[in-house]
Amino acid sequence: MKIGIVGCAGRMGRMLLKQVLETQGCTLAGGTERPGSEFLGQDLGILAGHTANGILSTDNTRAVFEAADVVIDFTAPAATCCHAKLATETGTKLVIGTTGMTADDLDVIASCAEKTAIVRAGNMSMGVNLLACLVQQAAAALGEEFDIEIIEMHHKHKVDAPSGTALLLGEAAAAGRNVVLDDVSQRVRDGITGERKAGDIGFATLRGGDVVGEHTVMLAGAGERIELTHKATDRRIFAAGAVRACTWLADKNAGLYDMKDVLGLS
Ligand code: NAD
Repeated sequence: MKIGIVGCAGRMGRMLLKQVLETQGCTLAGGTERPGSEFLGQDLGILAGHTANGILSTDNTRAVFEAADVVIDFTAPAATCCHAKLATETGTKLVIGTTGMTADDLDVIASCAEKTAIVRAGNMSMGVNLLACLVQQAAAALGEEFDIEIIEMHHKHKVDAPSGTALLLGEAAAAGRNVVLDDVSQRVRDGITGERKAGDIGFATLRGGDVVGEHTVMLAGAGERIELTHKATDRRIFAAGAVRACTWLADKNAGLYDMKDVLGLS
């Protein structure tokens, strides 16, 4: 399977290069960076922490899409929407890990998925996707007398909040309660907020240092509290999940899939 990496010099991009180079049956079709990036023309082997392999990063995105069976995209929402449209033109499959997408961005991805196969997930790790299943079960079993709060912490360079993973866990909790997350989510509290509304799903965001990603879903009842936690200590778990999604896509038709489909958890 030939895999292209867009945003190949980013924190995740480098990890993805390394994962593709070290996965049997996968070859690197190329890597892109944004126009003007200081990392254009860099050897992808070196970016991955390996020896040089003669494939250089480029801003010729179309050429990489044409050379690849699947492209992995961990970049930024505007770039990801452009990449999804390009994927429909070149007939390339796409794995999207980018977070911070708006409802409009998600509509773009959904319409592109009518023409090509796309896996999109706010978190590509086995652990978090399993956690989402547990959260859905717990939310369904415990009902509204248990207040659900989702707490997350990430490194200081992260630009979106709450994290894609926190939202994924919020969606799982909402699904367990048969409600729509947007109707019940409480993303910010400041000043005289009044009492907590029953049924709300609250979010709290911490940023600092080099934390790869930590999430706790708290179900707080009268006299007892359940906390379901995931701690990522190595970005490699996301890269491994993304490459696994690429191989899973090999025989899939157009459609929008997520990591629960890839991992057989749906
Ligand atoms: P980063 O800023 O280190 O890397 C992003 C890279 O994309 C940069 O090198 C940037 O130059 C490049 N880029 C931007 N626009 C581009 C374009 N048009 N063409 C080519 N390259 C372009 O960020 P990061 O920490 O690697 O995270 C990237 C995204 O992935 C974020 O949205 C983050 O939240 C998300 N993420 C998702 C998961 C998951 O499992 N789904 C895990 C980790 C991070």
